[in-house]
Amino acid sequence: MTAAAEAWTVTPPQWAAVADRLLAAGRIVLLAHVSPDADALGSALAVGAALRRRGADVAVSFGDEPFAVPRTLQWLPCQEVLADPAAVCAAGPADVVVTFDVSSRERLGTLAGFAGSAGLLVAVDHHRSYTGFGEIHLVDTAAPATAALALQLLDRLGAQLDPSMATCLYAGLLTDTGSFRFAGTSAATHVLASRLLDLGAHHAEAARRLYDDAPLAAVRLLGAALQRAELDPAAAGGLGMVSTQVWRADRLAAGVGLDGVDPVVDALRSVHEAEVAVVLKQDDAGRWRVSLRSKGQVDVSVVAAGFGGGGHASAAGFVGPAGDPHAVLAAIAERLPRPVRHDGA
Ligand code: MN
Repeated sequence: MTAAAEAWTVTPPQWAAVADRLLAAGRIVLLAHVSPDADALGSALAVGAALRRRGADVAVSFGDEPFAVPRTLQWLPCQEVLADPAAVCAAGPADVVVTFDVSSRERLGTLAGFAGSAGLLVAVDHHRSYTGFGEIHLVDTAAPATAALALQLLDRLGAQLDPSMATCLYAGLLTDTGSFRFAGTSAATHVLASRLLDLGAHHAEAARRLYDDAPLAAVRLLGAALQRAELDPAAAGGLGMVSTQVWRADRLAAGVGLDGVDPVVDALRSVHEAEVAVVLKQDDAGRWRVSLRSKGQVDVSVVAAGFGGGGHASAAGFVGPAGDPHAVLAAIAERLPRPVRHDGA
């Protein structure tokens, strides 16, 4: 299967089947992807809180080792349903496992085996790179965020949403749409946001905690990374690629986790001279974790898929090898697709 070519949609019988199985299940486990973002964790927490309120035996987790909620998401409500992977596995197989925003089995980390042992494995996702690993696919590649699909699932469950659940879903919608700036944002996206605000979502707190709340050391690290930015004007068929690296030693000296350097790629995205922005983040094992962004003329998910990663047309990523970062950059530049031309040329 060519990952980027697959378009998924969900049929009403699929929604009904999943709702029925969840309402009848003894034990339910909801999983976000490793290094969860607000869309993955917020979606899982909202559904988890709603199911627990109905009396279900439910836990939310993700397969990171060591297990820790990223600093920028520690404010999210509904975390009383969180359990670490060891506790989740110790309780034995679940009747139903639902994954949120997980495009492939690898993104389940240490919980991939556990998910495979479930009575039913359901995937809720919107990635074009979704591999089809679930038994039932609640996957809509047109959805602006997994949170939008999680809300549909909650409606199918007849759930009553409170401000905490609405805040979790709003956080996912806000981040995956780039604060409603990305091309995938539609009138329906704003209707969804409106509904979440009506339900009492704490939108101002979400924006402040997600975007305007960084330790001084992280801001200085961002400055250093931007200072090192390099432009390759010939890349992407002449549309240009801007890149930088965040080295492990600098990050550890600043006491900043990998999630603390996410703002680097958001800042690089704004560089006028480049269609594509690339940030190489060296993880604790020395590997380069690569974040790719484009402005809409180049599908970077194709590049990420070529390196075993995934994502969306305008935002994607993969885990690259250790070693010379410029070798990684050269390999990316080589694989960047020709731009989609709109001028008839
Ligand atoms: Mn997402």
